[in-house]
Amino acid sequence: MGTDWAIDWVRRSAAVVGEHRAELSGLDRAIGDGDHGENLDRGFRAVVAKLDEATPDTPGAVLKLVATTLISTVGGASGPLLGTAYLKAAQAAGDAPALDAAATVALLAAARDGVVTRGKAEPGDKTMIDAWTPAVEAAQQALDGGADAAAVLQAAADAAERGAEATDPLVARKGRASYLGERAVGHRDPGAQSSAYQLRAAADAAA
Ligand code: ADP
Ligand code: MG
Ligand code: MG
Repeated sequence: MGTDWAIDWVRRSAAVVGEHRAELSGLDRAIGDGDHGENLDRGFRAVVAKLDEATPDTPGAVLKLVATTLISTVGGASGPLLGTAYLKAAQAAGDAPALDAAATVALLAAARDGVVTRGKAEPGDKTMIDAWTPAVEAAQQALDGGADAAAVLQAAADAAERGAEATDPLVARKGRASYLGERAVGHRDPGAQSSAYQLRAAADAAA
């Protein structure tokens, strides 16, 4: 998967975040401060505006542009966390013109590790990690089973969706939702849901 895939991923992410902006902020209103959809939509709009001007020529360069733009425009908890995810993904991609299945798994793992290093969340803390970690595990399993890059991303997206759903019954141990204790139970983590959307966008761009 080359630069065209990466650009399509980003544009699809921007579209899906825009489409689900109200839903994501609604999730955040239940267990946070109600701005997650707006935060991400602002960030991805800025990314698309930059993409329209710049001509990144590798997947890594595309992901680097996403990282720096999200870090400077999203704010809140999710801006630096997602920015770090895309920055680490960019570093994993390096200056390769295209990524095979193994490189795709490495990219996803680097993104997840970046969020963990930055935010110190563990699986089950009701954060975006609960989408990223099963995604990385499913991607690795698919790779081990001989899947190509598109199938790896498909497996990652499916697992991320299940991971986001699985945050519903959890008590949050990181971020604003952790102030709510048991009152967070029964609500989906907005960052896990938006991460699942971004991973689905990556899979759709590869399909
Ligand atoms: P804020 O909480 O500052 O308003 P957002 O609403 O944009 O920021 O993002 C909230 C999301 O950030 C949460 O739903 C959660 O997924 C994620 N998050 C918060 N803290 C952490 C953390 N320490 N590690 C991983 N993800 C986190
Ligand atoms: Mg918020
Ligand atoms: Mg906020």
